[in-house]
Amino acid sequence: MTSSTAANKSHEIVIIGGGIIGCSTAYYLSRHPSFSSQSTSSPITIKLIEASKQGPAQGASGKAGGLIAKWAYPKELVNISFAEHVKLAEEHNGKDRWGWRFVDCGSWEGKGVLSQESGTGVGKEGNRKSLEKTLGLNGDHEELEKPLDLAKRRRKGLPDDLLWVDEESTYSYSPMAPKGHTAQVHPYLFTTSMMSLAQEKGVEFISGRVTNVLQDHTSGKITGVTYLESNPDSGAPKEVTISATDVIIAAGAWCPSIDIVSSLPISATRAHSVTVRPQPSVTISPYVLFTEISLSGANVSPEIYARPDNEVYACGPGDDSALPDNVDDVLVDQKACESIYKHISSISPQLSNGTVEKRQACFLPIVSTGGGPIVGAASHIAKGLYIATGHTCWGICNAPGTAKIISELVFDGKIRSGNLKNLHPSRFE
Ligand SMILES: Cc1cc2nc3c(=O)[nH]c(=O)nc-3n(C[C@H](O)[C@H](O)[C@H](O)COP(=O)(O)OP(=O)(O)OC[C@H]3O[C@@H](n4cnc5c(N)ncnc54)[C@H](O)[C@@H]3O)c2cc1C
Repeated sequence: MTSSTAANKSHEIVIIGGGIIGCSTAYYLSRHPSFSSQSTSSPITIKLIEASKQGPAQGASGKAGGLIAKWAYPKELVNISFAEHVKLAEEHNGKDRWGWRFVDCGSWEGKGVLSQESGTGVGKEGNRKSLEKTLGLNGDHEELEKPLDLAKRRRKGLPDDLLWVDEESTYSYSPMAPKGHTAQVHPYLFTTSMMSLAQEKGVEFISGRVTNVLQDHTSGKITGVTYLESNPDSGAPKEVTISATDVIIAAGAWCPSIDIVSSLPISATRAHSVTVRPQPSVTISPYVLFTEISLSGANVSPEIYARPDNEVYACGPGDDSALPDNVDDVLVDQKACESIYKHISSISPQLSNGTVEKRQACFLPIVSTGGGPIVGAASHIAKGLYIATGHTCWGICNAPGTAKIISELVFDGKIRSGNLKNLHPSRFE
């Protein structure tokens, strides 16, 4: 027990949003000493409400790359988060449970070469294989069979085990960080694991879309939350109001759609990604590549992530498509996915011979005025209100630090793990 006053206080905690920030917050709250040693006279409840009918991690948190880096930003969150990721992986067997591992990460520059198939639309609609010819008949096969000239590869900076990019396409490769400074998780598995581990300690998962956060205007305190219960059977959503003393808004790009924080400067950028399954005979070594590919007179920069189960994930640039009301209604532009696959295939015969398994899109929460994410107590809006959003491209990396800090604010009334004053919600007052 860290604080006897915290232990004696009852809390009805509601988290809005079942992405990585909300689910990790549920986990850290459920592991806080005040929660585990609560007394029957001062009970503590934790509920997480998620708008998707399909469960947690249906937004950016389930569709991100999953890079965890000591060189990410903002430093004040990374410094807590990286060490927490290591700890979580050790404690819960993250290696098997959510694909935790250290990876090499590098910047790759070169030119792409379009095969005839990719030029005419590799990765078209549906789940068909990217290339339907057998390997034996495929021109790219010759490329795979070429004897390796390691000396030539080394001159371009290519590591000896990075064999899944074409040497002839490569201008240069350079590592972006020292070994041990970059790791990865499978973001969907990490997020859903955080939720299950929180549920094991008594956190309740509710499927519904929050429409209102209630506040007593005399005391300024949070009093409850209203949500539309997802009811797939009847089709007619039911409005439910529950009481709350503490509300944590972790609704990602959707935060401004919640009235009480509608003025938050959060904007949404849509980004597409694909996952590719190479041929079973191909081993994809653990690298994450930030590419700069010159292709047909243009430059494209997909990010490519090898994953432990030999899956490869790649994402492309963002666009300004409008944010739908619900995460389940995010539209996927098949052409954007097709382009990503075409681009990564143009530098890797191993990927061009693979099968595209997922074509997906999601919305990144961005602080439109710049600066880091918004993390902290928003007592200038309501007592008992906390905000955790705007993590841009580093939300997977920075979720544990964010969640730990929110759990300290709720139960201890102050941040014990670091100094986050630059991220405080009151900077937008
Ligand atoms: C292509 C791409 C690649 C990325 N790669 C990386 C990476 O390698 N490393 C990294 O650190 N980060 C990465 N990111 C960033 C990361 O994905 C995000 O920062 C992070 O997922 C944001 O998490 P979140 O929980 O805030 O938001 P979300 O994952 O969007 O979750 C918010 C949840 O809130 C729910 N919600 C919204 N409104 C309501 C409501 N009214 N009631 C109830 N629920 C509601 C939504 O349904 C959603 O499930 C990437 C992002 C993209 C787009």
